[in-house]
Amino acid sequence: MFKGTPVSDGIGIGKILLLEEASLSYTPHSVSDPKAEVERFRRAIDALTDQTKRDAASLRQTAGEKEALIMEGHISLINDPALKGETENLIMGGQCAEAAYESMCDMFIGIFSSMEDEMMRQRAADVRDIKSGLLRILLGVKEVRVSDAPKGTVILTRELTPSVTAGIKKGNIVGIITETGGKTSHSAILARALEIPAVLSVPNAVSIFKNGQPVIVDGSTGIVIPDPTFDELNEYTEKRAHFIKEREELNRFRGLKTVGADGAEYELVCNIGKPDDAAKVIEFDGEGVGLFRTEFLFMDRSAVPSEDEQFAAYQKAALILKGKPLIIRTLDIGGDKEIPYMGLEKEDNPFMGFRAVRYCLKNKELFRKQLRAMIRASAFGDIRIMFPLITCVEELREGKAMIEDIKKELTILGIPFNKDLKVGIMVETAAAAMIADVLAKECDFFSIGTNDLTGYTMSCDRGNANVAYLYSALQPAVLRMIERTIRCGREAGIPVGMCGEAAADPRLIPLLISFGLTEFSVSAPSVLRVRKCISKWSKAEADKAAEKAMRLTTKKEVEEYLAGLA
Ligand code: PEP
Ligand code: MG
Repeated sequence: MFKGTPVSDGIGIGKILLLEEASLSYTPHSVSDPKAEVERFRRAIDALTDQTKRDAASLRQTAGEKEALIMEGHISLINDPALKGETENLIMGGQCAEAAYESMCDMFIGIFSSMEDEMMRQRAADVRDIKSGLLRILLGVKEVRVSDAPKGTVILTRELTPSVTAGIKKGNIVGIITETGGKTSHSAILARALEIPAVLSVPNAVSIFKNGQPVIVDGSTGIVIPDPTFDELNEYTEKRAHFIKEREELNRFRGLKTVGADGAEYELVCNIGKPDDAAKVIEFDGEGVGLFRTEFLFMDRSAVPSEDEQFAAYQKAALILKGKPLIIRTLDIGGDKEIPYMGLEKEDNPFMGFRAVRYCLKNKELFRKQLRAMIRASAFGDIRIMFPLITCVEELREGKAMIEDIKKELTILGIPFNKDLKVGIMVETAAAAMIADVLAKECDFFSIGTNDLTGYTMSCDRGNANVAYLYSALQPAVLRMIERTIRCGREAGIPVGMCGEAAADPRLIPLLISFGLTEFSVSAPSVLRVRKCISKWSKAEADKAAEKAMRLTTKKEVEEYLAGLA
């Protein structure tokens, strides 16, 4: 059994087709007629453009518009004036087309690979792809097309390039294994769009596995089993049937609104940690972002990101979401989230200590930079600001006052922002839930953070195995906190969402509907599952379930009762 990165869910069972890279070697030489060589180069560019257009058209049919756009991105890259122009200059200087183009591509690959931005690094893979395409044409090497592969084929290749993926016939290719590539590579996106199970980055896969070898690919767990036993084949055949049935059912909910059985509408948004994750929200059919955990922008680096860097990140997410709601949470460090360069003191009780909004209100310069970046970015989408770990009304007032000051300053400077910017809070402490009536009068929305609310209500640490039996959002105490928060929000006329993990728990969903939750914020891959679950409940039925559940006295009783309904 081998393990790689699971990037496209599902089980593939079939025989390996090893896509060996054709040798693209040549001897660099000087040319005596540079003009003719430039003409040869231009003909090759035209041929590659035509081929890529055909690939884009085929992808439009098999995968969809968004995926075809990836190939169309290749077309602009192939015809990039700088890449083409500089190559022609080198040819005019006497180099052969192959050497000139390769050296220019390698220069771009070097630049893109060294960039921090994942999307830009992805461009390096794209340039590598077009470089091989062009060299193949110049050298007259026949391209390995997967379009002729028979049914039941599992592709094995070092790196799955978008142009290889474009040749895939969905009915024939049942799995993909590669040696390189990650979750966000274009190939991974294409594999997901084609719904082909894929496991990338299996170390030395090309030398370990053989052409024609039977194999199981589990794109949900990243497991690859060559030469499976009879029992393994049976087990995975069953898993595959189950997966396909479930996927078909969930796909019926793609592109639909989130509505209950009585037609009541809900908002189904996602939790993200990086601006690029916004693309996943779109991919998984989320309706926006209910929680952007900004602390991830502060991690894996050695200094606080500047206001402009933060602005760029928030703006990027807003632009990807194209007007869909984007709730950005202000920095939530401390507790279990450490950022070494920020020099937080070691505390005996970090979850009760100097964290989140408490830290920010004492470090005003840092907080101001973050708020200013968010407010500036609000000109580019439906951005809303959310404070974490509020426990008393003074914290909310102080944060809001800072926002008002920044808005005044931006107005004077003529810097655009959304004048109707909404400001809300996370209700994730017992204190906030208990004064939810007071807080609701002073903010525009609530989002219930059940991860912390459960811990603070039950006085237990979410990571401590000895008290794990207490940690559940289905504890009667936590359910009362949730019910109270939603009721107070409703009475004050503000929307109440939930962004803790419990929002995706099918057992809790009827209760949330009954209490009056208006927005569910879940991980992107859970969107369709949650939409399906919500669709089963009318308010009247949910009320019946809630009435019964709220009369039960133990977590076990609640769990058993709700599990029977889910
Ligand atoms: C929560 O506490 O429920 C929450 C969503 O925030 P985090 O998990 O980031 O603390
Ligand atoms: Mg929290």
